[in-house]
Amino acid sequence: MKILKKSVSLFLLLAMFWFLAPQAKAEPKFRRPISATPVFSSFYDNQAGLGLRKYTCVTSGTYEGHAGTDLATAVGTPVYASAVGGLYYRYNGCPTYGYLGSTCGGGYGNNVRIDHEGILTDGIGWVTLYAHLQLDTAVWPMSVLCGAGIAKSGSSGNSSGPHLHFEVRKYAYPGNDPFSGYCSHSTSFWVSQVNGLPTTSCQ
Ligand SMILES: [Zn+2]
Repeated sequence: MKILKKSVSLFLLLAMFWFLAPQAKAEPKFRRPISATPVFSSFYDNQAGLGLRKYTCVTSGTYEGHAGTDLATAVGTPVYASAVGGLYYRYNGCPTYGYLGSTCGGGYGNNVRIDHEGILTDGIGWVTLYAHLQLDTAVWPMSVLCGAGIAKSGSSGNSSGPHLHFEVRKYAYPGNDPFSGYCSHSTSFWVSQVNGLPTTSCQ
């Protein structure tokens, strides 16, 4: 009887702790934001100021301080939400075709940002940013499921040619390379990174 009482008390205590403890949110993982197999025109630079470092440690394939991943793709290519979240920011005032050095949209051109943790701001929770979009194609505002169409790609803002700039914002730069690798972090931010290629699978 005494033992039973003890077990019941222990159970209640554990249940109380479980109830009171903050429930850790699962880290979001991202799908590739376009459906076609992408041509990566520029990877994330993991080593600004110290030489260019793609996640594989190859010293080409990126440029100084590049904080995102560039997917070369024709203007008008559908862009998909890389994970479930809230589309909380949109800039939609730039011509579809920008130029190198353009500051339109802060250089990002037309862009949208999705918060994946319900915080709705940059730099705290997990945010993904989709830049250089075609004018008047970005949806706004809405909550999105992974794989929802959110815009069409373009070349707006500081861009030398049609591509999608995909950026993850969680940590301070560097640290937001979605790819895992010897010169990046050990855990990929992609749902699946098969032979270096992120897939279109959702979490
Ligand atoms: Zn870029």
